[in-house]
Amino acid sequence: MVPRYEAVIGLEVHAQLKTQTKAFCACSAEFGAPPNTHTCPVCLGHPGALPVLNRQVVELTLRIGLATHCTIRRHSLFARKNYFYPDLPKGYQISQYEEPLCTGGWIDIELDDGTIKRVGIARIHMEEDAGKSIHDVDVDTLVDLNRCGVPLIEIVSEPDLRSPREAYHYMRQIRQLVRYLGICDGNLEEGSLRCDANVSVRPRGEQRLGTKTEIKNLNSFRNLEKALEYEIQRHISILEAGGQVQHETRLWDALRQETRPMRTKELAHDYRYFPEPDLVPVVVSDEWIERVRAALPELPLQRKQRFITQYGLPAYDAGVLCEEREVADYFEACCAALRQPSPERYKLVSNWIMTEVLRLLGEQQSKELRIPLPPEHLAEVVELYAEEVISSRIAKEVFAEAVQTGKAPRAIITERGLSQVSDVGWLRQLVEQVVAEHPDVVGRYRSGKTNALGFLVGQVLQRSQGRANPRLVTQLLQERLQVEESPTTH
Ligand code: ADP
Ligand code: ZN
Ligand code: MG
Repeated sequence: MVPRYEAVIGLEVHAQLKTQTKAFCACSAEFGAPPNTHTCPVCLGHPGALPVLNRQVVELTLRIGLATHCTIRRHSLFARKNYFYPDLPKGYQISQYEEPLCTGGWIDIELDDGTIKRVGIARIHMEEDAGKSIHDVDVDTLVDLNRCGVPLIEIVSEPDLRSPREAYHYMRQIRQLVRYLGICDGNLEEGSLRCDANVSVRPRGEQRLGTKTEIKNLNSFRNLEKALEYEIQRHISILEAGGQVQHETRLWDALRQETRPMRTKELAHDYRYFPEPDLVPVVVSDEWIERVRAALPELPLQRKQRFITQYGLPAYDAGVLCEEREVADYFEACCAALRQPSPERYKLVSNWIMTEVLRLLGEQQSKELRIPLPPEHLAEVVELYAEEVISSRIAKEVFAEAVQTGKAPRAIITERGLSQVSDVGWLRQLVEQVVAEHPDVVGRYRSGKTNALGFLVGQVLQRSQGRANPRLVTQLLQERLQVEESPTTH
């Protein structure tokens, strides 16, 4: 059954820019310092203190503006957004209003079924963060002003998303993009990437937009999806009952799994926006734009497509490898280090990274991705395995040792005499032992249960301590079991 209502969703995403210092003063923008240690007269809003724009804020905003195909305004303005809050000492937030730096772009997102959807970007503007109120049961409310003046961008999408799942993919894509561009670390839990979701519903076929609500407090991908699902159902119930949706801001309560009203939505005029008189207009030259454009990295979705065509990888592998730029770089470095590159070997490199390397990265505590062995060494492991010098079991051992000691895999194998054994005489002996010890399995194999062979191969490999060449063992076992076949059957 086709649902009668259609959801319309637009997201407003705030990303904290990775700058050393704040947007308008020289205070450190570092996260996690003791409260109120990163402050000065400018970010505390002392009278007479004058802000000066941090050039790096514009530089990083240009990166994402260009990566999302926005038009860059050569001459843009800052505005004051006025409101009272205890963690906003100036009484206003410096933002951009009428003339944001970037407008009218788009971003492609990949949906569950692999199709690509283009989502409009209405605007990307620069602004500053407010401080943080810490509500403590014992001592009332504390205020930490370290975050005051930390640079943010706000990325406002067009209302192009049609389901919670699309919103999820959009948010994922934004996170991946800001990380690829190196402009934000994309940490939803710590709040360096935040998302407010706007949603409305309308009868299918209707062109006009319904009344929207805005949901705040979405600090995980899961909450984003859940909150939107809840809110869409709530809107539908109201409309079905003949009611009207209130234009308001709501809060997602993850414990109760529901949204509840926070405040009636303030309109733009409530903020009394006016041009910031303390800052000159931001002027961006053509050269600056071209320099930033030329330095943009290949974007995640394109890179994924290239991995599929250039390396012959399955779409799944390409997606996993391109999730983080560092991992994708590593994959390419490993492939470049292969002495005899081939699609089979690329796939092996991919397998090793997706399992062993990502597992090790997952165990790391640090925020920076530190890949535990040089690409040349992983390439060697793959080649030694592909050339049947070592079995997959020994390959794992060699990999672990290479990670631990930093030694080259070929050196480890020579040192420890680990090369795969293809000594037929010795392998035949092992085959004889295993056949003699497992008459039942041999019987099953002969009665047509061909998968019993796997067990016997495994036994021989075990006896060889993983050093026997599995292909050769399989061949020898098949030969051995066939020889006796004619006299015993019929
Ligand atoms: P506001 O003035 O309430 O902030 P904006 O027009 O600035 O609204 O849009 C804010 C966000 O809400 C944008 O991401 C936009 O795509 C989205 N949006 C606007 N109207 C609707 C609607 N009727 N339904 C869903 N999302 C909407
Ligand atoms: Zn300061
Ligand atoms: Mg708005």
